[in-house]
Amino acid sequence: MGMNNYEFWFVVGSQFLYGPEVLETVDRRAHEMVDVMNASGRLPCRLVYKLTVKTSDEADNVVKAANYDDRCAGIVTWCHTFSPSKLWIGGLSRLQKPWCHFATQYNREIPNDEIDMDFMNLNQAAHGDREHGFIGARLRAPRKVVAGYWQDEDTQLRLGSWMRTAVGAAFSRELRIMRFGDNMRDVAVTEGDKVEVQKKLGWQVNTWPVGLLVETMDKVTDAEIDALMDEYTAAYDLATDDLETVRYQAREELAMQKLLDENKCRAFSNTFQDLYGMRQLPGLATQHLMAKGIGYGGEGDWKVAGMTAILKAMSEGMTGGTAFMEDYTYHLVKGNEYSLGAHMLEVCPSVAAGRPRIEVHPLGIGDREPPARLVFEGHAGSAIVVSLIDMGGRLRLICQDIECVKPIMDMPNLPVARVMWRAMPDFVTGLECWITAGGAHHTVFSYDVTAEQMRDWARIMDIEFVHITKDTTVESLEHDLMLSDLMWKLK
Ligand code: MN
Repeated sequence: MGMNNYEFWFVVGSQFLYGPEVLETVDRRAHEMVDVMNASGRLPCRLVYKLTVKTSDEADNVVKAANYDDRCAGIVTWCHTFSPSKLWIGGLSRLQKPWCHFATQYNREIPNDEIDMDFMNLNQAAHGDREHGFIGARLRAPRKVVAGYWQDEDTQLRLGSWMRTAVGAAFSRELRIMRFGDNMRDVAVTEGDKVEVQKKLGWQVNTWPVGLLVETMDKVTDAEIDALMDEYTAAYDLATDDLETVRYQAREELAMQKLLDENKCRAFSNTFQDLYGMRQLPGLATQHLMAKGIGYGGEGDWKVAGMTAILKAMSEGMTGGTAFMEDYTYHLVKGNEYSLGAHMLEVCPSVAAGRPRIEVHPLGIGDREPPARLVFEGHAGSAIVVSLIDMGGRLRLICQDIECVKPIMDMPNLPVARVMWRAMPDFVTGLECWITAGGAHHTVFSYDVTAEQMRDWARIMDIEFVHITKDTTVESLEHDLMLSDLMWKLK
């Protein structure tokens, strides 16, 4: 399901103490708030007002319904008045969907002349939300707290941003990943416990034979290839005369797309060491699939494939770009240090600064024919890189803030897409922190998804989260990792 297909349920807290008039007002206002926020255009999914909870049965029943409704990607609660939290214990204890506690208030201002005790009893979010916050803390329930006035742009944007995170969780729980071949020989960081990942993140990670892909490629028709070639030339500059090579990539893409669709997979991995029966490593083919939202990981890295698909789902409709990435090489000139990110071929063109070019060049490794690939530069701007690693017994998600620049040199002989950035807090500390935390060389790179969203996503999925920011020091990171290790052993 795409972003538009999901909805979030707005569940308001109150009680019978105040009489029917107050409850009618609460109900009317809840409808109005949802209508205004939906009309703002700042929420990526529809917010649906469900009910005002006054009894434990109502809380139980709305949560049961939310748990079993595939369209419902999460609940948003708010207490207009005081709502005693013993009513909520049963419901919140059985909640299986992401939860946002929205701490807001219907009125923006305290009305000087109008305010009396009736006004005070109706507009009690200030202490109603504290009672509600206590029970969330007491239950150790994973939740997001968003505070602010409901008509303010920044508040609506933060709620919308959390909705994208929750959609990322829903997407994760449905995700199937197609593996062609295993990992590249002896590489450690791309390995992981697929059973644990299915239990925690919902991913079904399975293998399909490369031979089946080759058989499927053989069945692709010229007409299908012609249509995809039109798509390529509409989106990219054709900077080669070798059309047969480009058409071969189209054949690969069509076959991979067919197998992905048939098996309801939204991500895949392959390895250049297992291409039996294929003439080219998929380059352009993989890049164009990624541009359409498919996750990918090279060298059998199914974890980064899954994460790429999830970040793409979270950022659907945004324009900054999200890509499978690899820290390839460094520029270590003092005061001007940068990472150069690239891959053998497969960087998603969604991060391109300009129009990508289709080029054909030989590959130094892999023993196959020169493949067609997209060549481009990434654009300047703030971004994050994300790496999911298996620590044995738990998963760790590492996120680093980075600042991208237009590549400082044109590198005319480099035949692949390239992005250049400096990691936070500075090149040296950022690198020391990344290596201390165990982050992989493969990452998901995104201009659109934020570190706050990744932190919230990790909390929903119940996995460890490590964030390297402009304020991180190696000492503080080591301390956090030590405490985290203890905590996750106890959990
Ligand atoms: Mn790689």
